[in-house]
Amino acid sequence: MRFLRRLPALAAAALLACTGLAATPAAAQDTSAAAAPGFKAPFPCGQRWTYSHHSAEVRRALDFVRSDGGATAGAPVLASAAGTATRHSQPSGAGNYISIDHGGGWTTYYFHLNAFSVPSGAFVAQGQQIGTTGSTGNSSGAHIHYEQLLNGVGQNIVIDGAALPYPGSYHQAHLTSTNGCGGGGGTPFNTWGSGVNVRADARLNAPVVTTLAGPTAVRVVCQKQGDTVNAEGYTNNWWSKLRDQGGFISNIYIAHPDARLPGVPVC
Ligand SMILES: [Zn+2]
Repeated sequence: MRFLRRLPALAAAALLACTGLAATPAAAQDTSAAAAPGFKAPFPCGQRWTYSHHSAEVRRALDFVRSDGGATAGAPVLASAAGTATRHSQPSGAGNYISIDHGGGWTTYYFHLNAFSVPSGAFVAQGQQIGTTGSTGNSSGAHIHYEQLLNGVGQNIVIDGAALPYPGSYHQAHLTSTNGCGGGGGTPFNTWGSGVNVRADARLNAPVVTTLAGPTAVRVVCQKQGDTVNAEGYTNNWWSKLRDQGGFISNIYIAHPDARLPGVPVC
């Protein structure tokens, strides 16, 4: 596929133990081969937290507390990947918690929140704050109870592409977050056109995450083939995933002559 991109001026017109949890029933068999999202730590860039797993824990959860001298209570809890957030409350167990549906059968959980930062049903970007760390529900102290599930089945947690160990107590393993670090993520491009929809996936019927009012400096983290788009005199089925907007736009609206962007990995 090829097309020539031009940019005429008129284009612009266009441990804390948390036992006894029973947050949600595990259900489906894990038979999917869907690739996992590129999960990052559920806490801010540069922070160092320690984590543990205890025998009474549900599924394959890990509990995180800060180990860099900062306060755990009240620390921002971040989406470890983009997706649709839902608020929940389970006073006898998970407390105030958020689930994020990442698509492809993948879900993450964030338990015991002190407060929510997004409304239920919000599409959140990776690194977006979804709540603050607390100790609501069945919890003996502030911590983030974090889980990754595939089709309702808890998976061994992978962060930044690496499987985390499951130590039985804190201060044996630590994780420094790269979530929301910015700067290095993605390749810079400019968009063109106006009213360009950023969608949750590379599909024309995927929910609109946000809209680019006009030409915008963006960072493209990866690209993939999706629905074929016919617009502005071009046809293209490649879509770019935008780091800061947390969704996809047709490559038609990326100001570059190639249908498939050079130097950008496939999602
Ligand atoms: Zn826990």
